[in-house]
Amino acid sequence: MTQARSKTNLNAVLAIAGGMFLLARLARRHSPARGRRHPEAGKTGLNPTQHKVVVVGAGFGGLQASLRFARCAGIDLTLIDAHNHHLFQPLLYQVATAALSPSDIASPVRGIIPASSHARVIMATVTGVNIESRHVVCDVGAIPYDDLIIATGSRPSYFRHPDWAQAAHSLKTLDDALDVRTRILGAFERASTAGNLDERARQLTFVLVGGGPTGVEMAGSIAELVRDTLPRDYGTAASEARIILIEAGPRVLNGFPPDLSRNAAQALASLGVEIRTGSRVTGIDRARVSLHNESIPAATVLWTAGTEATPVAEWLGVKPGHGGRVPVDANLSVADHPEIRVIGDAALVTGQDGKPLPGLAPVAKQQGRYVSRIIIGRLAGRRLSPFRYRDYGNLATIGRNRAVAEFGRVHLTGTPAWLAWAAAHIFFLISYRNRVMVTAQWAFTYATRRRGGQLITGRSSEGSATMALLPGHPPPVAKPG
Ligand SMILES: Cc1cc2nc3c(=O)[nH]c(=O)nc-3n(C[C@H](O)[C@H](O)[C@H](O)COP(=O)(O)OP(=O)(O)OC[C@H]3O[C@@H](n4cnc5c(N)ncnc54)[C@H](O)[C@@H]3O)c2cc1C
Repeated sequence: MTQARSKTNLNAVLAIAGGMFLLARLARRHSPARGRRHPEAGKTGLNPTQHKVVVVGAGFGGLQASLRFARCAGIDLTLIDAHNHHLFQPLLYQVATAALSPSDIASPVRGIIPASSHARVIMATVTGVNIESRHVVCDVGAIPYDDLIIATGSRPSYFRHPDWAQAAHSLKTLDDALDVRTRILGAFERASTAGNLDERARQLTFVLVGGGPTGVEMAGSIAELVRDTLPRDYGTAASEARIILIEAGPRVLNGFPPDLSRNAAQALASLGVEIRTGSRVTGIDRARVSLHNESIPAATVLWTAGTEATPVAEWLGVKPGHGGRVPVDANLSVADHPEIRVIGDAALVTGQDGKPLPGLAPVAKQQGRYVSRIIIGRLAGRRLSPFRYRDYGNLATIGRNRAVAEFGRVHLTGTPAWLAWAAAHIFFLISYRNRVMVTAQWAFTYATRRRGGQLITGRSSEGSATMALLPGHPPPVAKPG
């Protein structure tokens, strides 16, 4: 019986790994990073140094635009980013929960956009735009542009409670993910030496604020880490851990149809996650999370509730719209400035249903491709139709064989949704190396329930300061000097 089960398991892993490698190869063939020349290359009739396009942000939107510009000899491209890597944010929570390593989901931008006579990458932080003189202002100087594309994305928003950021940790960068990983694993270390049961319980309580896709995926991943992986390392501490997901609205995954929200909630509950819907957080500090009717002592609080746009509206001197986003027209240009375009999470674009387009990777990518087409097309004397977003579906995973997927009227749950989620994420990773590494890590975790990234790095502020003493051990003696 056990032999038969492990054989089935092995077959499943081989089938998944085989499928993923095929996908990785297929995606490579269609990869935008492959050096195809754009059909308009050289057709603009401009000297490469004449038409300067500056792209700010090498995330989903900025990179898509840059890939096309880099292949067009008539454009002089400068791509600026504060980081040296493109980050696949949808899998950031897997780095935070030790399932993947940072280099599995990030790629150096210079490796994707190689330097050439008409394309360069600059690592710098943009602080403003001089609209009159047409310069981007950044910490390494001012960079001139003829066309400017701003794709700097979003940042966490604590809903007028900036003090909560001290205790509730968000997930936006690789550094954030490593910090969260250290906090989660460090909490188990501290619990194992806690001097009293209350402190042990506080260390083993993980609260996530916000039941959107990031909160749900993160809660599921912590639950699986605690349930499947950590018992070997921490014994009973793992079974004592509590994972609490707090959502102010009536259901988790509010953006999904109600049947899929219900399924996700059931899947989370089956992993032991406690869900509090209709609960508004009233306070967060280093010791606890307060709700209107409850106080939860917790050492680890993760903020997955809200984001706002980076301060692009301020740079451009325009009135921000919802979420601090910059309102743009049907060509994604800023009012009265056709030479400035804002895309992705930083832009406020109305969809065909009259609602703002969501802050999602496919939106940013389609907008990135659109602005590059429209600028190259304009230089070649063509007019392009307004931007239209194509919605190919919505996916969220809760854990192994647990996911929800919405493709129009088709709703999937369980293993089929999970396979669709895994395939989509492998396919959309930027590099062949990332696809292979993620596939290998997932196959390893699927087969063994172990995680490759269980490292405590750096030092979280909970650190040794709150490390209580083992019963019967003397307090540490301060060393002189
Ligand atoms: C944890 C998490 C999970 C997510 N999961 C999903 C998901 O499952 N599916 C999905 O579709 N979407 C998901 N998203 C949302 C998706 O990642 C964003 O919608 C998408 O990244 C937006 O693309 P963008 O190009 O606008 O910005 P980003 O991809 O965020 O890129 C912005 C870039 O600008 C750079 N930058 C920012 N400020 C400056 C500055 N001042 N100077 C220079 N450079 C700067 C940044 O370094 C970054 O490289 C998730 C987001 C997060 C944070």
